[in-house]
Amino acid sequence: MRLLVVEDEKRIADFLSRGLQSAGYAVDTVNTGGDAVEMVHSTEYDLVVLDLGLPDMDGLQVLEKIRNRKVIPPVLILSARDSVDDRVRGLEQGADDYLVKPFAFVELLARARVLLRRGQPTPEKLLVGDLTLDCIRRKVTRLNENIELAPKEFSILEYMMRNRGRPLSRTMIVEHVWDMDYDGLTNIVDVYIRHLRSKIDDKFPVKMIHTVRGIGYMLDAPETAAPQASAAPAEMA
Ligand code: CA
Repeated sequence: MRLLVVEDEKRIADFLSRGLQSAGYAVDTVNTGGDAVEMVHSTEYDLVVLDLGLPDMDGLQVLEKIRNRKVIPPVLILSARDSVDDRVRGLEQGADDYLVKPFAFVELLARARVLLRRGQPTPEKLLVGDLTLDCIRRKVTRLNENIELAPKEFSILEYMMRNRGRPLSRTMIVEHVWDMDYDGLTNIVDVYIRHLRSKIDDKFPVKMIHTVRGIGYMLDAPETAAPQASAAPAEMA
């Protein structure tokens, strides 16, 4: 899940981005309306957290400029203005929810999760073989045994489960799970996959995470696993 935070007050932007990242989301932050419009047009976001008082334009103008996209991410407005008028105007212009500053981070997170769930065509619980991932409670079990995952490990596993049976390149995984500030090597994916394997695969006879040579990784359970994972690269390239 990738989020965009549009906030010109650095203190709040940092606080939001840190909080959302530790909740397991990839977060990009911009501080002007112009940058926000540009980012929304160039990147697929799952949610935009939008401050109304921006230096170059009003947050409502940002809303107006992104409304003509074919896929509009849900928008959660943040504002110091709490008049009913502003709230109504924001919602009328296509915002999905409205939070008045100052707010508690837990409240923002709760509302963000509701909006993220709404945009998600897939169920709240993902099942692949005997592996279960609960997107809401953020719990993972295999054969009813709880598995503790770090936030990034959880995000990678969620992404792989949503794309079961589909080979995913390291770049795809990085772009989905890390934000734009990450400019390191895609090798980091190998490190996380190693951690994930030690937690969800090592002590079980049936392995779910498969290495797809020349591409990256794929998650699948045996009953539907492709007989020859290595046959895929040609058409994927
Ligand atoms: Ca502001």
